[in-house]
Amino acid sequence: MKRLVLVVVGKQGAGKGTQCAVLSEKHAIPHVSTGDILRAAVKAGSDLGRQVKAVMDAGELVSDELIMSLVAERLREPDATNGALLDGATRTLGQAEALDAMLGEGGISAVLNIDAPTDKVVARLSSRRVCQECGTIYTDSDPAAISGTCEKCGGDVIQRADDTPDAIATRLNAYTRDTAPLLDFYERRGLLVTVNGDQPVDAVTAEIEAALSARGLL
Ligand code: AMP
Repeated sequence: MKRLVLVVVGKQGAGKGTQCAVLSEKHAIPHVSTGDILRAAVKAGSDLGRQVKAVMDAGELVSDELIMSLVAERLREPDATNGALLDGATRTLGQAEALDAMLGEGGISAVLNIDAPTDKVVARLSSRRVCQECGTIYTDSDPAAISGTCEKCGGDVIQRADDTPDAIATRLNAYTRDTAPLLDFYERRGLLVTVNGDQPVDAVTAEIEAALSARGLL
């Protein structure tokens, strides 16, 4: 199989993390989530974590320079020779241009846009709970969320600090202002693949796989 570098975009709560986790497991391509890398740094209390915590908790965007240096570092790791599912980057035009410069012509296989209506993503984000250790996503009514213990790894299941009403509103504004313009940017290059994220997880995965297969990418 050809090296697959997929840039995954969509509103917060559209299902990027969930779909990347499924695709990563099925197709052995690393799931590279800038949000997960940053959250791990915050949890570890590293310099990077201290630098970004307040920005993340408020739902604002971290600088393009910082994000792209994390992406560059991650893509240099050996497992990324198979490709990468870039979840949550690129999120601004500056990042998109930097990624083009980093990967060169033809470096991006496709840009997957998981589309979901705003009212649905707000409801999902408000009820979302995550395992602090392995990142497994639950809803507030799942037994693991109620017990606070992850079914996969036994880690603590919590509500993200930026899944509060104020931070959700800030994040969706950032999506409209900074990320939505990327759809046109990538569409003009013929890279955009849009799927309906307002369906059960399996149906979204099937739609993604069909679209990527049709392009000869899977
Ligand atoms: P996510 O898990 O993708 O929702 O990201 C959580 C938070 O990490 C975001 O609200 C931002 O503060 C930060 N972040 C993650 N990826 C990026 C990015 N590509 N550009 C800027 N900030 C980001």
